[in-house]
Amino acid sequence: MRVLIGGGSGFVGRELTRLLGKRGHEVTLVSRNPGPGRITWAQLQSDGLPPCDGAVNLSGESILNPMRWWNESYKKDVFSSRIDTTRTLAQAIAASPNPPRSWVLITGVACYKPSLTAEYIEDSEWTPFDLLSRLVKEWEAAALLPENVAQTTRQVVIRPGVVLGRDGGAMKQMLLPFWLGLGGTLGPGTQPFPWIHVRDLAGVIAHSLGPGASPDGDDADADARPGPQVLNGVAPAQNTNYEFTKELGRALRRPTVFPVPAFVLNALLGAERALVLTHGQRVSPKRTLETGYQYRYPDLGSALKEIVGG
Ligand code: NDP
Repeated sequence: MRVLIGGGSGFVGRELTRLLGKRGHEVTLVSRNPGPGRITWAQLQSDGLPPCDGAVNLSGESILNPMRWWNESYKKDVFSSRIDTTRTLAQAIAASPNPPRSWVLITGVACYKPSLTAEYIEDSEWTPFDLLSRLVKEWEAAALLPENVAQTTRQVVIRPGVVLGRDGGAMKQMLLPFWLGLGGTLGPGTQPFPWIHVRDLAGVIAHSLGPGASPDGDDADADARPGPQVLNGVAPAQNTNYEFTKELGRALRRPTVFPVPAFVLNALLGAERALVLTHGQRVSPKRTLETGYQYRYPDLGSALKEIVGG
C-alpha cells in the first residue's frame, strides 16, 4: 500500500517509515523541504493529493524545544504547524477523486485534565481547560472530513503520551543528565507519566491504517463511521514520574537523587508548557487494546531496556 506522511521526517515518522518499508509499503513524505520521496505542503495544495491508500499527519513544531523561549511567536508556530498542516491534508483528501482508505492524525493526551486520581479512556468526556487542551481541540477539528468522504475514508485520531525512543523526543534530552547522575523526578514526582515506546506508536499507526499496513490490522469500528475512531497511544502500564525516574536510573545504573522542582521548570520553560512535565494524566489504551494491537513494550522495564540497552 502507498502511505502519505505529513511531518514524516521527524522522530516518530522515521520509525513509521522504517516499519512500513519493512512490510513492503511505499511511503511519500509531505515536508517543508523538497527532496527525494517527498512533496512539499505547497505542492500538496497546488497539485492535490498524490495517489495513496493511507494518509498520516505527524507535523508539529516541537513543544519542548529548550532553545526556544515560550512566547507568542513560538505558541503561534506550535499551533499553526499542527492545525494548518492537518487542515491542508484533510482538504486534499476531501477534494481527491480517489481518497485514501484511512486518514490518521496524531495529537496528544493534553486534552485530558491532569489529575492524580482520574483515569481517562478514549470515550472520556473532556472540554478544553488550558492552552494545550485548546490546541488538541482545534487540531482534531481540523482533521474532520465531510460526511460523504468519511463514508469511504476511515478517520482515526491517536493521542500519544510521551514518546520514548533512542533517537529523539524527550529521551534525547533526558539521557545526558541521567548518564551524568544528575537525573531526578520532575516536579512532585507523584504525577502520572503516560508514555509509549516509539516502536509501539509506529505499530499502532500502522495498525490503524487498516488491513494491509499491519499483519493483524482490522477494521473493528467500521460500523461507527463517519466519526473518527479515537485511540489512546499509551502503554498499558500506568506509571508515575517517580517510577519512570527510578526505572531509568536502574536501566542506566545511575543514581537519581536530584529532583527538579516545579518552579525551576516553570522558570526555564514557561508554566504553560512545563505543565507537560510537572503534571500528568492516567490514561488507559482501552480501545487500542480492543482493536487487537499487541504491544511490544507494554511496561517501562522492557521499553527502557531496549532504549538504553541495559
Ligand atoms: P518532530 O519534532 O520530530 O517533528 C515532526 C515533523 O514536523 C518534523 O520532522 C518537521 O517536518 C515538521 N515540523 C517541525 N516544525 C514545523 C513547523 N514549524 N511547521 C511545519 N512542520 C514542522 O515530532 P515527533 O515525531 O516527535 O512527533 C510527531 C507528532 O506527534 C507531533 O505532532 C507531536 O506533537 C505528536 N506527539 C509527539 C510526542 C513526543 O513525545 N514526541 C508526544 C505526543 C504527541 P519537515 O521538516 O519535514 O517539514
